Formats: sequence, structure tokens, C-alpha cells
Amino acid sequence: MKAMNIAVLGATGSIGASTLDVVGRHPGRYRVFALTAHASAEPLLALCRAHRPSYAVLSGVPEDRALSEKFKAVGAELLFGANALERVAGDPACGIVMAAIVGAAGLASTLAAARAGKRMLLANKEALVMAGPLVMRAAREAGAEILPVDSEHNAVFQCFHNKESVRKIILTASGGPFRSTPLEALSAVTPEQACAHPNWTMGRKISVDSATMMNKALEVIEARWLFELAAERIEVVIHPQSIVHSLVEYIDGSVIAQLSNPDMRVPIAHALGYPERIASGARPLDLTSMKNLSFERPDEQRFPCLRLAYAALRAGGTAPAVLNAANEIAVEAFLGGRLPFTGIARIIAETLAAVPAKPADELASVIAADAQSRSWAAARVLAQAA
Ligand code: NAD
Ligand code: MG
Repeated sequence: MKAMNIAVLGATGSIGASTLDVVGRHPGRYRVFALTAHASAEPLLALCRAHRPSYAVLSGVPEDRALSEKFKAVGAELLFGANALERVAGDPACGIVMAAIVGAAGLASTLAAARAGKRMLLANKEALVMAGPLVMRAAREAGAEILPVDSEHNAVFQCFHNKESVRKIILTASGGPFRSTPLEALSAVTPEQACAHPNWTMGRKISVDSATMMNKALEVIEARWLFELAAERIEVVIHPQSIVHSLVEYIDGSVIAQLSNPDMRVPIAHALGYPERIASGARPLDLTSMKNLSFERPDEQRFPCLRLAYAALRAGGTAPAVLNAANEIAVEAFLGGRLPFTGIARIIAETLAAVPAKPADELASVIAADAQSRSWAAARVLAQAA
């Protein structure tokens, strides 16, 4: 069997590291074709030394001859600027694209991989939140295969058969680090506390999203487009142990779930190998050592972001893109110490109310809504700090 070429977009991130770990366990099966990072040249160079890709991309760095020479010495041609992400994602020599850039910055390359008909391992949920119908249509038209890497969506994908018989899907959420913090203490929590997730080690943005439950809000929208289900058929339950990754309920009353230890290498290996199964390196689940698997309804007062996602889906068009952009601005402000934790949901709600939803049938409309939402949200952050 000839090894499949894989491009890992966002290689220096948390998903990037887990992907390269799984890929490294199957050297004859996969060959690293391209690795990308935004600005962290040295970590990217170290990855190139270990994985020997043909290309490396620094999307946020201007041309630099000395850097190019360093990468050349380890066999990689170094490309600069955001356009290079689309170039490697659509390269005819590349069969698999892991879309693991964080945030709206991943949209263009995710779309490029869809348009080029790749096997896509989709971690960059924000791309689907912003432009779900556009990404799904591009994939359909070009014959791209989208395999969800988000653990909940990967779990649903594994349990989802004959769609006509599905009653609903149930996404599990851990509840994050503040599931039982007194409500009145939430305004004073720090970025470090918000990023200390009880079950998963992830990038800082998604860690804050997990603490506000905006992560689950984005995942409801992601599921809406991935599985083509109306929002009413997507439910969220809190499951603090993060063992049951999600469930599908059928019309006969059967509920099928996928379980594993919380380790992103499990969904990544599933998506990489599909339809075969390949080793992931994850520790096997020890059922008898588990004392309790519990489930509870999310508290709307504690997690107002969840309601905002359903509202954005109801509003339709560009509303989810507005929600996503406002969240990115608010999270950045929180991480930078310019906004209290409880301000995140407030900024998003205000932005959704102020920026009108428009039809989202073209990429340009989505990008315009994203920009409008960012400037509105940023102005609100400033106003609140004053
Ligand atoms: P991370 O912050 O650890 O890594 C982000 C990667 O994106 C880095 O390689 C960084 O260089 C790159 N990047 C950042 N800004 C960029 C920009 N403007 N342009 C181009 N590249 C840029 O993030 P992560 O935790 O690995 O998450 C990546 C994606 O996967 C997110 O969309 C997240 O929601 C999703 N996801 C992550 C996990 C997880 O366990 N970490 C689980 C499910 C889904
Ligand atoms: Mg998830």
C-alpha cells in the first residue's frame, strides 16, 4: 500500500500534536506532506526535523531568507503568508487534510480542502459554524469526505446509521472547570483557572470556550450542518466524566453511545483510518474502575452561551458567523485581562442583537458579517473597560 500524503494545518497546536502522534505510529500508511503554524517558527522547525514534510507554512510571517534556509536544511520548502495554507490544502499531491487551525482563521483553508475534494479531518469547528452550508456544499460538489474529529461529532458519526430512524442526537459536555463554582464567583475567575480543564488538555481558546460552554454552543451548530439535523433534534447534556462522548437516539427507543478515555487521539485515529480501525495509542477504557457515569441538564443561568447558539441558528444566515466572531473577540479580551469572564456571554448577546443577520449564501457575506461583528464586539469591550 502506498502511503497517503497528509497536510496538518495547525501542526503546532494541541490537535496538531495528537495527529502527529497517531500518524507517527503508522509510518507505512501515512506520509507527512505539509505542516503549518502561524508564527511559531522554532516549534514548526522541530516538527519538520521529526516528520520530514515536503512543505512547511508560516502563515503569519513575511518572507525571510534565513528562515527558509533553516527549513531547507531539514528537507522542507518553507512558504509564507495565509495564501500558502490554501495552496497546501488544495495540492493535488496531498490526499488527507487535517484542518486544525483555531478559529475563523481556518475557514479559507478548510474551504480550499473541501473544494479540492480531499479527505478532510475536521477539527476547525469555527469554519462550519461560520459557513456550514457553504463548506458542506463545496465538499459535496467536489467529492470531499468530511470526517469529524471533534470528539462529540466523531462519536455521533460512529453511532449514526439510517438517518430516517434517528430521533435525536445528544452531545455530551463536561461542564468545564466552573460547573460547580458559585455563580457570584464567576466574574472574578482568571484565564489560568478557565484554561485548567478537568478532563482535557487543549489550546487556550477552546479551553475558555469549554468554561463558558460556548464550545458546546459551537458544537450544536457544527452538528446541525454535519448531520443535517434541525436544531430541535440536537440536545446537550452535562456528563462530567467525559467518557461517553455523545449518543444517538433512535425511534425505537435505542440509544447508541461511543465511549473512550478522554484522549483526542481516539477520534483522530478513527477519522484517519476510516473505515478501518487503527491504533491510536490511547489507554484502553477500564469499565470496572469507573464508579459513576452521571448526566445532568445544563444550567442556563450558568451557561447562557448555549441558548445564544440556538438563537443564532433560528435567526439563520450570517447569525452563527456573528456569534462566532463576537466570541473570538470576547475570549481574546478575557485572556488578555481586558474583560471579566462573565462579560464574554454579555458581549456575544449584545453583538447578536446589534448586527443584523443576512443571507449567507456567499463567502463574501460571511466574511463581511465576521468583520462587522468583530468591530462591534471590540468596541463594546472597550466601552465596558472605560
Ligand atoms: P491550539 O491553539 O492548540 O493550536 C492552534 C493552531 O492553529 C496552531 O498550530 C497555530 O499556529 C495555528 N493558528 C493560530 N492562529 C492562526 C492563524 N491566524 N492563522 C493560521 N494558523 C493559526 O488549538 P487546538 O486546541 O489544537 O484547536 C484547534 C481546533 O480544533 C479548534 O478549532 C478547536 O475548536 C478544535 N478542537 C480542539 C480540540 C482539542 O482537544 N484541542 C478538541 C476538539 C476540537
Ligand atoms: Mg468537542
